[in-house]
Amino acid sequence: MKKVRSGGGWPAVAYTFRKAQEAGGLRKLWKAMRSKNACKTCALGMGGQRGGMVNESGHFPEVCKKSLQAMVADMQGGIGPEFWKQYTPAELKSLTPRELENCGRLTHPVLFTPELKRFQPISWDDAYKRIVIKLKELSADQTFWYFSGRSSNEAGFLLQLFARLYGTNNVNNCSYYCHQASGVGLTSVTGSGTATITLEDLDHADLVFVIGGNPASNHPRLMRTLMQVRRRGGQVIVINPLVETGMVRFNVPSDARSLLLGSEIASLYVQPHIGGDLALLTGIAKRLVELDAHDSAFLQSSCDHWWTLKAHLLATPWEEIVEKSGVEATQINEIAERYAQAKNAIFSWTMGITHHAHGVQNVQAIGNLALMRGMVGRPGAGLMPIRGHSNVQGIGSVGVTPKLKDAVFQRLQNHFNVSLPTTVGRDTMACMEGSASGDLKLGFCLGGNLYGSNPDANYAQQAIENLEMMVYLNTTLNTGHAFGLAKETIILPVLARDEEPQPTTQESMFNYVRLSDGGPQRLAGPKSEVEVIATIAERALGPTEDASASADDAPINWKSMQQTGKIREAIAEVIPGFQQIKDIDQSKQEFQIGGRTFHEPKFPTGSGRAQLHAHELPALRGQGADQLRLMTIRSEGQFNTVVYEDYDLYRGVERRDVILIHPDDIKRLGLDPSMTVTVRGPAGSLGNVRLHAFEEIRPGNAAMYYPEANVLVSRQVDPDSKTPAFKGVVVTVEREQLAVV
Ligand code: SF4
Repeated sequence: MKKVRSGGGWPAVAYTFRKAQEAGGLRKLWKAMRSKNACKTCALGMGGQRGGMVNESGHFPEVCKKSLQAMVADMQGGIGPEFWKQYTPAELKSLTPRELENCGRLTHPVLFTPELKRFQPISWDDAYKRIVIKLKELSADQTFWYFSGRSSNEAGFLLQLFARLYGTNNVNNCSYYCHQASGVGLTSVTGSGTATITLEDLDHADLVFVIGGNPASNHPRLMRTLMQVRRRGGQVIVINPLVETGMVRFNVPSDARSLLLGSEIASLYVQPHIGGDLALLTGIAKRLVELDAHDSAFLQSSCDHWWTLKAHLLATPWEEIVEKSGVEATQINEIAERYAQAKNAIFSWTMGITHHAHGVQNVQAIGNLALMRGMVGRPGAGLMPIRGHSNVQGIGSVGVTPKLKDAVFQRLQNHFNVSLPTTVGRDTMACMEGSASGDLKLGFCLGGNLYGSNPDANYAQQAIENLEMMVYLNTTLNTGHAFGLAKETIILPVLARDEEPQPTTQESMFNYVRLSDGGPQRLAGPKSEVEVIATIAERALGPTEDASASADDAPINWKSMQQTGKIREAIAEVIPGFQQIKDIDQSKQEFQIGGRTFHEPKFPTGSGRAQLHAHELPALRGQGADQLRLMTIRSEGQFNTVVYEDYDLYRGVERRDVILIHPDDIKRLGLDPSMTVTVRGPAGSLGNVRLHAFEEIRPGNAAMYYPEANVLVSRQVDPDSKTPAFKGVVVTVEREQLAVV
């Protein structure tokens, strides 16, 4: 497959028409995309009350392939009862993630038990009964509650409330496997776990760092913003072991000049080794001190631990920095000098930073760099984790974490006049380990693909098989429904965001809360997430059959909580900064959450000052003669675990069973490009893998597609964020036979 020379462009325009055809025509797709609902894909944010394809700065059109792919997937036809006669779980296991996604929309509850040997349609009433019986059988701490970042704030708040009133804090969300390190790292720097800027601040930046990410594929609308930084004479410094096509050049379809002539994105592209970021970030900071380019006044007036950090930087030898980062001192100097010239710098990053056993330290080191030049706490400058799912931040904000913030805990108890459990809740990996050990018996997944997102895939499968019950709420099928099967597995079909009968809300990565109107139901069968949760809660916790008990006896009238407005009343009371959500469906006023954007150097830390951190540099792994450092990556044709296209347009890769490896390493390891190989990692191996010679990756490093490569990745997590180290996995690559061309 010929690799394109630029991202976006006419291929993206052509793709739009292809998707429109799939959706039943351009008019139908346009109508769906223009509906007042937040984009279903990434957290950059788009849509809502300003209308579909409009961002919070009011710019139109704001649309990308990812938003189209998610919309068209929801516009598929329904899966009928006959499907389950045709496909057993064994046959579902043979389907690829893309084929599972394209099987259609789930429309009726189904049940699987090993005895049944296949999924069997059941009624909603039967499904609810089975779940409630199991919940009443178990003790609350034998259960866990996992949330995807695609669900609404209302569904997230309601389900965490139900789980806690049921008696457990085993409540967590998909960010544990992606951006938790950003939340933990940022909180330790500024006292707040999210971006310190608004979208509008990007319009005033003259330097943007993009570290460990490929937003050209995963957050394409950000390319227009980066193009504008360059047009204003600003700089974009990209740091990534792999040269990503769209981060070098992008033709922004909504800009005629860029569409026709293309736009240069990266001013400087730096390729450290996988896992070399901390050393590189430390090197840039050290060079700033040597250049006396740091802002001493700001550091002394607004930051703690400057002298400790300064001493540490000066003591860290350049040899160690260069060896562990893989970046020459001259190039580190180049970055530092360009940064030293910047007036307004914004630091952005994604999972190339967070998917490490030292992910939190990576985020802190980015915080150090920004603070050293006073780039936090004023307009036009700051910190911007580029988050994944469209409401992953909202789900965290409304309380979907094992441990609630003290203020939220108190307010929740007071608002509902209840006492909440104080047991230590489990994070996502701890839930997998609890399932494997048998301590946990039931898992409840609101959206997402828990199995697919897990490292050590074989372990994850066995852990889920060890459960007595697994309940999934989804719109379409995924690998979790084939491989993540417990002794009793129930899949409940839910509505998509733009099919909700009532308004819901979502929060972007810029702390901006949108109101989604919902819309007409496309298919008979699926129910709203909020209705499903409230029904189960009422049956499990609500008024008992005992005739003498009335609705008022139950601490919460779960039936009333089927109204999203009712849930928002509670969110407004309980979650700091969310007061305006109370009547958002009346006022239609979307809002910036208070206390999250820092345009002044006042930080909600113990001392009110930002915190600097000194770090010992981790050893560079995978330096053995037969070793490579592997990173799992998303292709341009996927979003998280959801695969829409098997080919990866921007990398010129047509299939997913490949390892992207530098030609020098193919030679060094005595391999031949036409071979298939077995890749061995700490948790397992993958055979029949095709070598894909790839000049754009640093020698010594390699890449394979997530989630298929997760079978290789160990369960090692960052001790602070509990995020697995999906990057820097040490692998070996062994010959097999010659590939069948
Ligand atoms: S960049 Fe993200 S928010 Fe914007 S249209 Fe694409 S998927 Fe949606």
